[in-house]
Amino acid sequence: MKIRDMLLERKPTVSFEVFPPKRDYPIETIHDTIKELKDLHPDFISVTYGAAGSTQNHTVEIASKIKNEFGIETLAHLTCVTSTRDQIKRVLHELRENQIENVLALRGDIPETYLKNPNFTPQYHYASELIREIHADGDWSIGGACYPEGHVESKNKLDDIKFLKQKTDEGLDFLVTQLFFDNEMFYQFQEKLELLDIQTPVIAGIFPFVNIRQIKRIQEISGCNLPPKFLRILDRYEHSPKALQEAGIAYAVDQIIDLLSSGVDGIHIYTMNKPEVTKRIMRSINHVRSTLNR
Ligand code: FAD
Repeated sequence: MKIRDMLLERKPTVSFEVFPPKRDYPIETIHDTIKELKDLHPDFISVTYGAAGSTQNHTVEIASKIKNEFGIETLAHLTCVTSTRDQIKRVLHELRENQIENVLALRGDIPETYLKNPNFTPQYHYASELIREIHADGDWSIGGACYPEGHVESKNKLDDIKFLKQKTDEGLDFLVTQLFFDNEMFYQFQEKLELLDIQTPVIAGIFPFVNIRQIKRIQEISGCNLPPKFLRILDRYEHSPKALQEAGIAYAVDQIIDLLSSGVDGIHIYTMNKPEVTKRIMRSINHVRSTLNR
């Protein structure tokens, strides 16, 4: 099923993100994770794509497993900045061969080694070019990334949102946000989208923080705002891993309930391949999930 059709049903979607196991881990390790996530009845599970990594080839394989063996709808991420047009065509072909209908079209981050290479001349510069090409390729349901607090490279938030408008004008069926810890940022972002007449449904990305190393890294990469409530929790529990995990799960549940109550189009949980944390979150929103409509 196409995600654009799910979003027409006026019920918030609940979805999860997984990533292909890193080099040292066999690909089969993800199967147990998917099995456990399946019990939580997600609307779909997305699979990330390494911009230049050896795990790239596994995205189609894992997305196909999710769809064709586990019977769960899937969303395959696809980045373009380090790819040639032929490589993109090949991946789309493989996705189609595996009956995968949903693609998250991304630019991707340019790896340091590419940036240092004077001969690096990307065939794609922005996600919008990839979106145009996927459209020309056939009837896909296409999603894109968005950043409630602005993209980290963007010097000007206004330009960032104007570029987002260009991207949605290419014909995006839905957007998925980068993680955020302050729902007010998300609501302000929704207002900006409204002002620019961007009507694309927005699925909110939720990251349950469970350890301090993760938080530091995420903050470095995304530059996301850490609200006072979040910092108080960190300050209080940073040396008690179990307490921090409990607090991180409760924080995510609180964010999700607030978003669902506000009529969000969907919730996308960054599972970090840790089904236990996602299970605990889902258990806490069981009834909330079954009663709400958008
Ligand atoms: P774009 O939309 O192209 O934007 C990139 C930057 O360029 C922004 O600053 C934007 O303002 C600017 N820009 C856009 N158009 C123009 C223009 N015409 N002229 C000038 N500037 C412009 N990365 C991965 O490697 N693999 C993944 O699987 C992955 N999954 C992700 C999932 C989600 C939900 C999100 C939010 C991010 C994900 N990323 C992933 C990270 C993403 O690839 C990076 O954030 C990347 O830096 C930007 O990708 P984008 O598609 O948002 O780029």
